[in-house]
Amino acid sequence: MIEFIDFTCYYMLKKEKISVLENISLQVEEGDFFVITGPSGCGKSTMLKSILGLGGYYSGNIIVNGRSFEDISGKDNVFGYVSQEYSLYPSMTIYENIAFPLRVMHTPHEELDARVRDVAKRLKIDWLLTRKPKHLSGGQQQLVAIARALVRNPEVLLMDEPLSNIDPKLRIKIRELLREINKDYRCTVLFVTHDIPEALQLGRHIMVFGEGQIERIVTPEEFVRIYGNRDYINFFGEL
Ligand code: ADP
Ligand code: MG
Repeated sequence: MIEFIDFTCYYMLKKEKISVLENISLQVEEGDFFVITGPSGCGKSTMLKSILGLGGYYSGNIIVNGRSFEDISGKDNVFGYVSQEYSLYPSMTIYENIAFPLRVMHTPHEELDARVRDVAKRLKIDWLLTRKPKHLSGGQQQLVAIARALVRNPEVLLMDEPLSNIDPKLRIKIRELLREINKDYRCTVLFVTHDIPEALQLGRHIMVFGEGQIERIVTPEEFVRIYGNRDYINFFGEL
């Protein structure tokens, strides 16, 4: 469903070539919850951005549902993207924030309204629809950003450390919601985190990534078997 074919990506910084992804080949099954994990700076964000066509210079290809990523445009409704920053529009209500991608597509009013209310209910933020972002907590704002990404029913949901600014209790609840969404919306999720307990709770597959190369792709059970049942908090030697 998503296939990286011999994909290499690099950035140019003051005429110096910075290789980030080197000859990556991998397949992510349709409907998978695929977690990408690895130390800071190893290229996790670049992987997601590359799929969106926002990475650096590249060679190779990424095929998404039979189409090259180069041929997919924003209008095709293939991707939803959520990053660490919530990036909500401060002057708009929560309702309008979630509705925005549908407004851009000139979705008829009734359908727009039904979709916004449906996704807001699903994420348990329907009671916040008339408020402005500044009146919401960080966790609630991130749920709005997730709702905005889901409202167009994307085929693929790309999430880049979306829960790292959220307090631990709410984080666990949102993870449960994300698993449900992955099932109910039948979208493929690529989820970046450097938090191993999070990867183990969420992933159907976990990719361990280091120095631009794939170390391994395993199930959570295999991960625990390989690395031992221990405290994974500082797995990559960082917080
Ligand atoms: P991660 O998300 O795993 O922390 P990134 O994909 O953000 O890693 O970055 C991988 C490497 O590429 C880092 O060394 C980073 O400094 C570099 N990098 C990322 N974006 C750019 C850019 N736009 N220009 C130059 N170098 C970049
Ligand atoms: Mg990153």
